[in-house]
Formats: sequence, structure tokens, C-alpha cells
Amino acid sequence: MKLRATIWGENVHETTNQNVSDIYPEGMHSQIAKMVGAEGDIETRTATLQQKEHGLTDEVLKNTDVLLWWGHAAHGDVKDEIVERVMRRVWQGMGLIVLHSGHFSKIFKRLMGTPCALKWREAGERERIWVVNPSHPIAKGLPQYFELENEEMYGEPFSVPEPMETVFISWYQGGEVFRSGLTYKRGAGKIFYFQPGHETYPTYYDENIGIVLRNSVRWAFNENATFADPGDAPNVPTGEAPEKIEERGLKLHKDGEAGLR
Ligand code: ZN
Repeated sequence: MKLRATIWGENVHETTNQNVSDIYPEGMHSQIAKMVGAEGDIETRTATLQQKEHGLTDEVLKNTDVLLWWGHAAHGDVKDEIVERVMRRVWQGMGLIVLHSGHFSKIFKRLMGTPCALKWREAGERERIWVVNPSHPIAKGLPQYFELENEEMYGEPFSVPEPMETVFISWYQGGEVFRSGLTYKRGAGKIFYFQPGHETYPTYYDENIGIVLRNSVRWAFNENATFADPGDAPNVPTGEAPEKIEERGLKLHKDGEAGLR
């Protein structure tokens, strides 16, 4: 069985900035999808902001094992109901890979519960990505470190919750460092944040970046992701308890009541 990845792209810079469209003539999401699907074990589809329901219908999400998210200029245009839908699917067990400027996306901020802010500088600096967790599945096949000749600097402090695991730490030519590969779990869903991917550099053509993307999709896949509602909070009537019990004390709620929210 192939893993099913959906690559969500905001698709704004590609259509409004010549520098970006020269590097990614078919859109960043299409190039990311090519990298993710390059070894044949991951089936890819793309979705963009401009599509109906941003391309993330119930049907698409139901058939997505791992969602990759690239956004920057239009985080505020993503509809809250779609963010809610993606979040529920993550709780159910869908994997989520948040790329680069996606640190400020509504979905990442909602799932983290913190500002997710950082320092930044657009100066085409060399980035050296150190593998600090070499036995982690996301680092499989990578050297001790690899470099991108041009990247945007992202610097600490990165106001995210303490991660489950730190896979990469990056150093930039200007001297700053950044925790550039972090894992989280929210509900049954595994989440990976990965820093490289500024739109004016050819990051999504780099072989090592391709390795990280594919490894992270494989790592985030949860074969037990169900489509039951994780927000459901059913009342169990006394008569339906696994063991027979007598009701005692005063009561506020009726058997089977929906309960307060
Ligand atoms: Zn950027």
C-alpha cells in the first residue's frame, strides 16, 4: 500500500513574483510533490488556497495520510473552518509536515498553542543543517550535516513548545542558530516542523531536502488513523456501565445527555 500525501501550497508568490515563478514555474507545491513522490512509495496530490475549500475537502483529508503545508503571504486568508477540519484530522492521526514560513500558519499556531515567532533575515546566507539525532527515522540516509548555499536565516528564540524530539539544528553564515527540525504529537497525529524552504531559493530541488521530506512523511504516517470524531464526549448511562452499579448521590445530568461544552 502506498502512503498518501497531500501537498498544500498557498500558491501566491509563484503567481505574483517573477523571481519565485522563475524557480518554481509550476508552483512550489508541484515541486515539493515531485520530491516527496520520487521513490515511488508515496502517492502525492496537491491542493492550493485558491481551490474550493482550499482543496482540503472532507473527502481529500479522509484520503490523506500525511499533509504537507507551505504558506507565507496569505495565512490570514485560510478559512477558520478549514483549519478546524485539518486540526480534527490531525487529532485522528493524520501526519502534518509544516514547512518554513508555515510556522505562522493558523494550523501550526492552533496546534502548538504558542506564538511560534522567530528572528529572520533574507540575505541568501549559507545554512548548515546539523543532524543532532542521527538515529531518528527522519535523519535516515543523511550525512552528519549538509548545507544549502542560500537560505533565509531563522533565529532563536523560536517560541514553540518544547518539542518531543529535536532532529536538526541549523547554523547560518551570519552566526545565528535555530532548531530547524522538531517533532510533536497532538492527539494521534505526528507533526514535524522543518525550517528550510524560502521561496526565492531553489531549496526544494536539493537532494538532501528530498530525503528529509520523504523520511518525514514515512515517519508521520499512522496506519491506525481512524475517521471517528475525536471531539466526541459521550455520556455513558449508569445501566450501560461495564460492571453493574447502583446510582448514588444527587444528579445534575440525565442519562445519555449531550453534556455541557
Ligand atoms: Zn521565507
